[in-house]
Amino acid sequence: MAGGKRTRGGVTTGPVAAAPRVRVLLPLPLGNAYDYRVPEGLALTPGAFVVVPLGGRETIGVVWDGEPDPGLSENRLRNVQAVLDAPPMTAVLRRFVDWVAAYTLSPPGAVLRMAMSAPSALEPPAPQAGWRRAAAPPAGARTTPMRRRVLEVLADGAARAGGELAEAAGVAPAVLRGMADAGLIEPALMPRRRLFAAPDPDHPGPALGPEQREAADALRAAVARHGFSTTLLTGVTGSGKTEVYFEAIAECLRRGRQALVLLPEIALSAQWLDRFRARFGVAPALWHSELTSRTRRETWRAVAEGAAPVLVGARSALFLPYPDLGLIVVDEEHETAFKQEEGVVYHARDMAVVRARLSEAACVLASATPSLESATNAQTGRYATVHLPARHGGAEMPAVEAVDLRRTPPERGRFLSPALVAAVGETLDRGEQAMLFLNRRGYAPMTLCRTCGHRLRCPNCTAWLVEHRAQRRLQCHHCGHVEPIPEACPECGSAHSTVPIGPGVERVLEEARALWPEARVLVMASDTIPGPAAAAAAAKAIQHREVDLIIGTQIVAKGWHFPHLTLVGVVDADLGLAGGDLRAAERTVQLLHQVAGRAGREERPGRVLLQTFAPEHPVMQALVHGDLEAFMEAEADGRRPGHWPPFGRLAALIVSSEDERAADRTARDLGLAAPGGEGVEVLGPAPAPLAILRGRHRRRLLLKTRRDIAVQPLLEDWLDKVEVPGNVRVQVDVDPVGFL
Ligand code: ADP
Ligand code: ZN
Ligand code: ZN
Repeated sequence: MAGGKRTRGGVTTGPVAAAPRVRVLLPLPLGNAYDYRVPEGLALTPGAFVVVPLGGRETIGVVWDGEPDPGLSENRLRNVQAVLDAPPMTAVLRRFVDWVAAYTLSPPGAVLRMAMSAPSALEPPAPQAGWRRAAAPPAGARTTPMRRRVLEVLADGAARAGGELAEAAGVAPAVLRGMADAGLIEPALMPRRRLFAAPDPDHPGPALGPEQREAADALRAAVARHGFSTTLLTGVTGSGKTEVYFEAIAECLRRGRQALVLLPEIALSAQWLDRFRARFGVAPALWHSELTSRTRRETWRAVAEGAAPVLVGARSALFLPYPDLGLIVVDEEHETAFKQEEGVVYHARDMAVVRARLSEAACVLASATPSLESATNAQTGRYATVHLPARHGGAEMPAVEAVDLRRTPPERGRFLSPALVAAVGETLDRGEQAMLFLNRRGYAPMTLCRTCGHRLRCPNCTAWLVEHRAQRRLQCHHCGHVEPIPEACPECGSAHSTVPIGPGVERVLEEARALWPEARVLVMASDTIPGPAAAAAAAKAIQHREVDLIIGTQIVAKGWHFPHLTLVGVVDADLGLAGGDLRAAERTVQLLHQVAGRAGREERPGRVLLQTFAPEHPVMQALVHGDLEAFMEAEADGRRPGHWPPFGRLAALIVSSEDERAADRTARDLGLAAPGGEGVEVLGPAPAPLAILRGRHRRRLLLKTRRDIAVQPLLEDWLDKVEVPGNVRVQVDVDPVGFL
């Protein structure tokens, strides 16, 4: 560990009767807090970051609340070694860590690790040295024009870094050294640079329309109450929800509290950041996985010191050490990207509400297509609602039509129907932009042998290999396995017998190139838009009309505002409906409505064509008639009787092992030990839809209970009853949203 300033305790040797003890939680996926002895001379209160011995190492932990175990004998205790000079972890954050651990059935140490994601930030930043005017310069010191220029730069009495000072005065660094020797200037510690300029709540932003104003008033009032509340902010795509919740942020800033905005995909948020800058004059602090370790450390520290008034981040930003959080906004709250599926499995939207409650803060959940969970909470009055009924600036919602692929199919080997081809052509002829949406990367989702029918599968997963023609290879989208496209069928040996089945965006691109050779086409998929810079460049190119046709995966469904885009074609509207996912229909409606919402956001009206084999399906009907509420009511009616979420509770156990028999045995044992009783039901064990993933065999059990029954105690009892061998892992997922 680096040096830094620490308070060392007096060295105590031998057992001292009744030395004070503390509980210290360590950021390790082990378990609970351990007891340590407090050496004389150290004053410790809960929240302090401390260095303690663990095994043969030193580890940083946090003094936790609660009573140490008095039964632990003195000679088994080890000393806290030092206290770090960092702002202590607040009681709110400690309660949050405990809460998340208990809810998700994770060891508290694993959750603490998320709250200590920049351990180097716990060491105070090394102060930088510079120069300032000597307080008492010797009377006879020689002054030259160069030396006078230096003194002029330093006239305000502040310290400046050597390089910067030499440059400002137009002198060589050696001049400074000479002045120091002569006693004209003296070394001084520089004030720390302020990393994040303060957003100005009164910076002139766009003038809100009357409905926006009313909505903003409601959110401002929620923030001003300085207590916990949750508000669901809904409104059609393009209604200006962002500008409205910006007003809540402004109110929070005026009250001197911090605001947190969670965005589902921060890498795709260039346009959002531009708007923030336009409203508040400066950029916010950012938090996501791609920060450099230095920015991470500095940002963490700035948050802890209250020097990052607004933080915009991915779900992990919930675990930052805000001293006084006054507002949490979860934008696009329906997005599944808020669910973390690895390690501590949690839903950031739900945990945002919890963190807001613990912080006595306002929580705002924003979406044009709220999740059934949030919509239900709004209906039962647990959440307040604020609704924007129309698009900002009088723009109309786009007209949505279904194209029945049974009646008007595309030509053989093609994927765009005559109606869609015509519509794209007309749009391009008018000089407007069109978008084709297909939520599938690559060229074709499946490759098979024409001779024997063999389908090319990933060797590590229950998944087809996806052809990426541009890179001349096959890829597994679940584990990352890649291999060249085989010359001959691996099963029957026929040469050049493999054929692509179905379309991916690359194949749609090929078709588009043939149909509209003049059009400038941009593909937006995670492999063509690898990061924030690429996303920002793509958005600019579209805004500046350097692109005519956009072909994209779900990336294009995000909150983009493309003023010249008037047509959206959905190549396969049925795609998300396959599979046994509880939320398949809900998610398809949300995704397609978001994509559709990209069309016609300014003067010219938008048009949306959905290619489907099932135009009568409730999902298509809801989209065509723009009646999402009726759809969600029908969805609710479908889930209520069976106590499916949100009208009941669900938890999944995923049993996995490289040894298939071991996975089966543990799954069977869990099945035999399953809890039961009134309002409790266990489904499975059954192979997970991805029965093999990265070489691990997976079995799934689902615990379903009535809403008034908590699943955590049931799960704890259940897991206690079954012995899990070392080569088997059982992952607990409370409130699962993915069913792979
Ligand atoms: P939503 O999030 O509801 O889809 P946005 O907040 O993205 O809608 O707003 C849609 C577009 O309208 C954006 O380009 C935004 O800058 C613009 N807009 C919203 N409100 C105003 C306003 N009051 N004045 C000017 N432009 C606005
Ligand atoms: Zn074959
Ligand atoms: Zn794979």
